[in-house]
Amino acid sequence: MSFIEEFNRCDPEDISARIAACGAGDVERALDAEILRPADFLALLSPAAGTCLESMAQKAHRLTQRRFGKTIQLYAPLYLSNECTNSCLYCGFNAANKIARRTLTLDEIEKEARILRKRGFRHVLLLSGEAPQAVDNAFLAAAIRRVRPLFSSIGLEVYPMDEAGYRQMVAAGADSLTVYQETYDRALYAALHPAGRKRDFDWRLGTPDRGGAAGLRTIGIGALLGLGDWRREGFFVGLHARHLARSWWRTRVSVSFPRLRPADGGFAPLQPVSDAALVQLICALRLLLPDAALTLSTRESAVLRDHLLPLGITQLSAGSCTAPGGYGHAADGSEQFAIDDDRDAGQICAMLKTQGYEPVWKDWDGAFRTLQADESGP
Ligand code: SF4
Repeated sequence: MSFIEEFNRCDPEDISARIAACGAGDVERALDAEILRPADFLALLSPAAGTCLESMAQKAHRLTQRRFGKTIQLYAPLYLSNECTNSCLYCGFNAANKIARRTLTLDEIEKEARILRKRGFRHVLLLSGEAPQAVDNAFLAAAIRRVRPLFSSIGLEVYPMDEAGYRQMVAAGADSLTVYQETYDRALYAALHPAGRKRDFDWRLGTPDRGGAAGLRTIGIGALLGLGDWRREGFFVGLHARHLARSWWRTRVSVSFPRLRPADGGFAPLQPVSDAALVQLICALRLLLPDAALTLSTRESAVLRDHLLPLGITQLSAGSCTAPGGYGHAADGSEQFAIDDDRDAGQICAMLKTQGYEPVWKDWDGAFRTLQADESGP
């Protein structure tokens, strides 16, 4: 069953009512469970669990240490283009915003990539808006091939593709895909995406499954926090991640927690998510998904990122710039959003070591893919 079918069987209002109705006993049962059922996950997202954050944090910490040890994998985003035909109201690249638009050439992409490589990064995430006249599959495949010798892992956070498109990206050397649903609330999604191809909720919802079918090694999902009710959004993110882990068993699932940041256009969060809510959400997802990679980007402050680490975070971005060409040149106002943690990679490494963590620059090599393919036989 595709996730769209699974999602359509859920009644969002019923989910909200069940979350609100959970009591202390439900939370206790969820905390005692080895493997969480959806009902347990609902309880951990409920207001009743708000008084059990310490117990949730301790269990999340234990599970993470058991699965991942004290390691944090580092990556950097590389923006290829800020051109976009969509009108997502919360985004600085929104087609209606009057900002300097730019798509890097392959030479410029390589230049940015070499700067990141020199800073130590071996995992890179290539990003762009959705503007077929500027960035299409052929351009992306060429960009991947150009930077492939510099990195052991290349991820994509671009427009949704069909399965054939993702196969083309895998053949070029990409191994991971990040695609946030933004919100799992259909009505809210329609209001926030008034124009452009991104209006198609179902096409976006089915994207991670198409990536899994194409053989991408890691698939990252998430909801943009600050749009809908975080408890219900968190429930659907968990359900979606569990579906992907079961459907594409060779693929590692990763969950991110992007909270809305100031951006051009001045969009204010519709339902702000507090730090305590973010803690509860991270812990609940770790308890539901002990094997998932959990990612925290530079959207969050340095102090908060340092404190959230022990809860189950396994991946951090560092020294990020959200404008195309931003590593080689000073920011020119064309960023997607303002980052909060502006420490460079060296400072992040120093912080990790102080906290007893080992920074991991490279935990995967494309050569393994060939080996795996050989071992799986004819
Ligand atoms: S969120 Fe993505 S698709 Fe939407 S306007 Fe921004 S870059 Fe374009």
